[in-house]
Amino acid sequence: MNTKSLPFTEEELESIIATHPTPFHIYDEKGIIDNIRRFIKAFDWAPKFKEYFAVKATPNPYIMKLLQKEGVGADCSSLAELLLCEKIGLTGHDILFTSNDTPFCEYQKALELGALLNLDDITMLQYLVDNGVETFPDTMCFRYNPGSLKEGGNDIIGVPEEAKYGMTREQIFKAIAFAQKRGVLHFGIHTMVCSNELDVNGLVGTAKICFDLAVEIKNKLGVIIEFIDLGGGIGVAYRPEETPVDFNLLSKGIQHEWESTLKSNGMSDTTIAFECGRMVTGPFGYLVTTAIHKKDIYRHYIGLDACMANLMRPALYGSYHHITVVGKENAPLDHIYDITGSLCENNDKFAIQRTLPKIDIGDRIVIHDTGAHGHAMGFNYNGKLRSAELLLHDDKSVTEIRRAETYDDLFATLDFSHL
Ligand SMILES: *Cc1c(COP(=O)(O)O)cnc(C)c1O
Repeated sequence: MNTKSLPFTEEELESIIATHPTPFHIYDEKGIIDNIRRFIKAFDWAPKFKEYFAVKATPNPYIMKLLQKEGVGADCSSLAELLLCEKIGLTGHDILFTSNDTPFCEYQKALELGALLNLDDITMLQYLVDNGVETFPDTMCFRYNPGSLKEGGNDIIGVPEEAKYGMTREQIFKAIAFAQKRGVLHFGIHTMVCSNELDVNGLVGTAKICFDLAVEIKNKLGVIIEFIDLGGGIGVAYRPEETPVDFNLLSKGIQHEWESTLKSNGMSDTTIAFECGRMVTGPFGYLVTTAIHKKDIYRHYIGLDACMANLMRPALYGSYHHITVVGKENAPLDHIYDITGSLCENNDKFAIQRTLPKIDIGDRIVIHDTGAHGHAMGFNYNGKLRSAELLLHDDKSVTEIRRAETYDDLFATLDFSHL
């Protein structure tokens, strides 16, 4: 269970809206910090434990900076994300570059920043050589795709053989040998087979897959894996009846595998890392909107001033996002609505047939858990503008950490002068 409460009162929200018109995403700074501290603390047994925030979740430098102060690095998969790291002064092994289908210019930037490269495919080694990389960095990480999890797998972990990511087991061995010939001295492995996973067993299963592979690499190649990256995938309890992942339980499960596999095979100094994004910011973001229209046909519709350009997860994945009608938290849930945006797309709905209190025009409608893959997935279809992002501080003051787009932004790539 989780309460789906708001980090502000109705009055506080109205005073924010007085200077920042809806719609906007607002992030709860204290919520983010407390959560990441709890996560890191849960792994205090793990030597050199490191979390790399998956920047794609909330690619905002203020959020990244907040996390940087907590000792969190950045997991990047594109040039833009690397550039954001550069802007906030994150460099070297504080950046993990876990990309795929990567153009060379992106590797070039990653190398220039001294980022830890996590290669998605064995062909990337030759690709680097072919593009003139003479000297490889002294540390490299390789992404492992365990394929069909016949032995040792479980129902919770998905179907990695259908995923485009990572290398086969044999390719991992070949990649290490290739890299050794190019002077690479330190090796890491990575796997990520879960997404939005709330079951600790699936996440512990990922660790076991990696730890077992590290032992096999040691036995077969005599190479000590010094860095194990367990990817992201820790879920968010989007529904009130779901329970967030218990970090201590997760940590205990991984520690158990670590002791029986890594530690007992002489790899107790190996760094354990995560690349979590969703759980770091997801539950601490709120899309604040206003109900602007009401429509009664075969169903009852509430039209918001936001649309799927502000949050596309419901339309893209059919995801549930909890909705609070501000000031009506205790009102009876006696209406059923589809909550819509204004795109000319029938899937532009934040909720379908949702039981809610009676909504009136002008009500503030807050959509929960939009802190990851919310604003970040924004787009401009129908010429909709992306909203502002606000950071709510503990003292309830607010910093605008990204302004809303304007029509000048939207048309910036058009040259009207040749018409
Ligand atoms: C998306 C992604 C992550 C983050 O996953 P979450 O589910 O947000 O924790 C980490 N690593 C890679 C390579 C990813 O693509």
